[in-house]
Amino acid sequence: MASEDTTPGPALPGQRSPSATLLAGLAGAGDVVADPDVLEAYRRDQAAPGLLAAGMPAALVRPTTTAEVQVAVRAAAAHGVPVVPRGAGSGLSGGANAIDGCVVVSLERMDRIVELDAAGLTATVQPGVVNAVLGTAAAAEGLWYAPDPASREFSTIGGNIATNAGGLCCVKYGVTRDALLSCEVVLADGRAVRVGHRTRKGVAGYDLAGLICGSEGTLGIVTEATVRLLPAPPRSSTLAATFSSLVDAGEAVAAIVRRVRPSMLELLDRTTLQAVQELEPLGYEDDVHAVLFARSDAGADAGLREIELIQELCDAAGATLSVVSDDEAEGRAITVARQLAYPALERKGTTLLDDVAVPLPQVPALLAGVERIAVDRDVLIGTFGHAGDGNMHPTVVYDHRDADAVLRARAAFDAIVALALELGGTVSGEHGVGLLKTAHLDAELGDARGLGRAIKDAWDPAGTMNPGKAI
Ligand SMILES: Cc1cc2nc3c(=O)[nH]c(=O)nc-3n(C[C@H](O)[C@H](O)[C@H](O)COP(=O)(O)OP(=O)(O)OC[C@H]3O[C@@H](n4cnc5c(N)ncnc54)[C@H](O)[C@@H]3O)c2cc1C
Repeated sequence: MASEDTTPGPALPGQRSPSATLLAGLAGAGDVVADPDVLEAYRRDQAAPGLLAAGMPAALVRPTTTAEVQVAVRAAAAHGVPVVPRGAGSGLSGGANAIDGCVVVSLERMDRIVELDAAGLTATVQPGVVNAVLGTAAAAEGLWYAPDPASREFSTIGGNIATNAGGLCCVKYGVTRDALLSCEVVLADGRAVRVGHRTRKGVAGYDLAGLICGSEGTLGIVTEATVRLLPAPPRSSTLAATFSSLVDAGEAVAAIVRRVRPSMLELLDRTTLQAVQELEPLGYEDDVHAVLFARSDAGADAGLREIELIQELCDAAGATLSVVSDDEAEGRAITVARQLAYPALERKGTTLLDDVAVPLPQVPALLAGVERIAVDRDVLIGTFGHAGDGNMHPTVVYDHRDADAVLRARAAFDAIVALALELGGTVSGEHGVGLLKTAHLDAELGDARGLGRAIKDAWDPAGTMNPGKAI
């Protein structure tokens, strides 16, 4: 018996290629783009170039409504092709990297603030609203949207929710999940559901809004969100303190968090400080091995008292110099090195930015271990970050054109992640797993990874929502 020939023959007149039928299905999904030059710009996020896979999408859609997102998701589902949601593409873990043949759903045009309810202290926004734009709108009402990733001027609320983004003031006000009340999500089969509660408290059912927060686009696409606003904080007071040893700085952090709730507690190591001083000489002495920056927004007098207590704790831990100010402009001036940390390291080469977090007492051990890894692996690593949360950014700087340097950088990065786990920490404190850290998930999650995958299967049985990321 002759076997059946399943090789596709040449397209017959009137017969359409799969991508043509996909494109036809996407009609009604807003702006639909198949131009390879445009698609190129939507293939990857800001994670270290060359280290992570970034496929070529079949199409990009830029919807403006939930209904258009539903059209896109249904068309992709009908063709069995992956959907990759995308905000501003500022992610640092490859979460928004495209997959060959996928549909990239960019939420950038869903950028409307739907409602700012000053009396109810909430804002309802489309996912493409940039974090700082919401901040400005809230400030106009005397209110404040607290989550403040360093990317707040360009990253979107949808992306912040999908990565559960953190920032400098998390140490007092929590991360994006703490600000999210409810959201509308388009599921893998195209249904739109609302999860969470618009009320400030609400415990009916499982916390599905909390689940969506940090799910990196693998469970559905956030098409609207209601977030919590706060009264604008009063004027802040600021401290900068230098240390001749990282361990002393780590001990100061441990002492501070036991006594005070600062609204910022950040640390910079010597390598980062040197890079900053090459970019902008700020007059730090050569023997400074760590700088600590703290802020208090407890109010005029209370804030100053709090920051002076932090100063005493720094001095007791061996600070070589400490200054405080209750003037906001001066406060910004004495913390400028923190703002310059990442740009300064970026100037020295390609950066592989880590975001491990460890229990607070382990911060000094993490910092010392990272220094050892830099020596052992012969790589430059500058460390800065959110010391008050135990969430640090050891940043490996390398030359991405040098294959050996790339290998050493990746090995150093993996060693830092392993060290954080040894210290009882997590592989990602705020940037998410994306593609970058999936290899480390078993070590951290153990059997819980299977539970996570079961949730993924229940929400997305065909596995088309941003597959291969996050879990
Ligand atoms: C200079 C710089 C500084 C940074 N600082 C910080 C920081 O301080 N703290 C911090 O946490 N991060 C920081 N980041 C990382 C990044 O900005 C955050 O992860 C941010 O939340 C990503 O938002 P985005 O809009 O760019 O999302 P994208 O990068 O486009 O997407 C991120 C992930 O979310 C998914 N996604 C996007 N939109 C949606 C949606 N509407 N529905 C479902 N899934 C979606 C994507 O598929 C992807 O998995 C920084 C990045 C840079 C470049």
